[in-house]
Amino acid sequence: MDFDPMTDRHPFLDGQPKRMLIGGQWVPALSGKTFETRNPANGDLLALVPEAGPEDIDRAVAAARAAFEGPWRRFKPDERQAVMLRFADLLERHWDELAWLDTLDMGAPIRHTRGSQRHLIGLMRYYAGQATALYGQTAETSMNGEMFAATLKEPVGVVGSIIPWNGPLWACVFKTAPVLATGCTLVLKPAEDAPLTPLRFAELALEAGLPPGVINVVTGHGRVAGAALAAHPGVDKVSFTGSVGTGQEIVRASAGNLKRVSLELGGKSPHILFDDADVEAAATAAAYGVFANAGQICTAGTRVFVQRRIHDQVVERMAQIGASLRVGPGTHSDSDIGPLVSARQMERVLGYVGSAHEEGARLVCGGTRLDDPVRAAGNFVAPTVFADVADPMRIAREEIFGPVASVMPFDTLDEVVQRANDSPFGLGAGVWTRDIGRAHAIARRLQSGSVWVNCYNQMDPSMPFGGVKLSGYGRESGLQQLDEYLHVKGLWIQHG
Ligand code: ADP
Repeated sequence: MDFDPMTDRHPFLDGQPKRMLIGGQWVPALSGKTFETRNPANGDLLALVPEAGPEDIDRAVAAARAAFEGPWRRFKPDERQAVMLRFADLLERHWDELAWLDTLDMGAPIRHTRGSQRHLIGLMRYYAGQATALYGQTAETSMNGEMFAATLKEPVGVVGSIIPWNGPLWACVFKTAPVLATGCTLVLKPAEDAPLTPLRFAELALEAGLPPGVINVVTGHGRVAGAALAAHPGVDKVSFTGSVGTGQEIVRASAGNLKRVSLELGGKSPHILFDDADVEAAATAAAYGVFANAGQICTAGTRVFVQRRIHDQVVERMAQIGASLRVGPGTHSDSDIGPLVSARQMERVLGYVGSAHEEGARLVCGGTRLDDPVRAAGNFVAPTVFADVADPMRIAREEIFGPVASVMPFDTLDEVVQRANDSPFGLGAGVWTRDIGRAHAIARRLQSGSVWVNCYNQMDPSMPFGGVKLSGYGRESGLQQLDEYLHVKGLWIQHG
């Protein structure tokens, strides 16, 4: 699509209050309430969005249940596959428009939001393929007589997905694809800071031919709409991506009907650079590992451990890269890094910078808000590198969700494994070394959902993604995820 944000209005932003999707209908909240969503680069109002209450969640869950037990259940696997492939084609055709919407609503540079196209369309098609590849097993039992024993895989039912703001399009595809492949239905609750792309995404889902109620999108606040969804007795599974504290609340809320829960939470990922590594490649990856998406990525490699011999060189190179990155509105094609999603998030990040100063870390680059005339109305923070960081400092322990790197020297493999694992989180980990034996050894010892050696933050539809410890449980992407959306039923038939 030819869309120039400097001169055009985004076609989805027509000045009208948005509606949400329940049972195939575009509806306001029953209360009539709305909330604002704004562009984090300049504070402009983008749209008013329905502010759902528990009564709207009730309606959406009922619609999802009706679709699950009605028309969607009658779709054969190849029919689910066909509608998913049509959906993928539509997403592909409208990708530019969706990417612009993400950029306007949450701030990431358009290059970044566009750039996930191959992976995300690929993910939708990968799971479309799985729709016709689901099967159970037969068992040879030791029973007397003639017994046929088998397992059947059945969809868990109505899924509630609660997503964050740091990659709405990303989250939409990740949460929808396995639901459709397995024959479940969905109530999706976008984040209040970036609700627009999920609404447009759902329009395309309807256009692809999904029956009403298979996908419902309910916009609203976490503590009200999100909490109602997590606690709802009609929801069979909740898939959540967001902060640890909210994840814990969701687990508590899920106890009422013991719904299944999968959680993709935060991280404080270690990025470990041994001195035999390709230093330029490693330092560059370490810098982008923290600064990409302005640090608003759960796998941000914010604890950069550097073997002592190359430590100063890496600090200097990361600072050079940090200082050279262009921080500006996501709609500018030359921006490398956009604003943080909200003023609240910016204050939080600057608070961590303050704590690093107080605790004695050495600022090497950045560390400030960018408030020149172009950027003053947005939430821009300069890429920041701290050296001389000690493990107990807050910036080395807590998830910041901003462009702030902590660089720390180490001497031995045993030492760095112990320090890397000394974190409540376990989401991603990066290792740079040319020693293949060392790479294998450390990869097995790191407590982490993913380990990337001589690369960072790689993702592919075929590979699982998720965490250990406070980074959550359950896996997204890959074949493993399908079982989280399927019940296993044991079938016994005595015959003969
Ligand atoms: P952040 O603090 O960065 O916004 P959250 O984990 O709070 O991260 O938000 C992620 C998602 O969780 C959002 O969609 C938000 O609305 C939702 N959410 C927040 N609080 C709750 C809650 N108590 N129950 C369910 N969902 C919630």
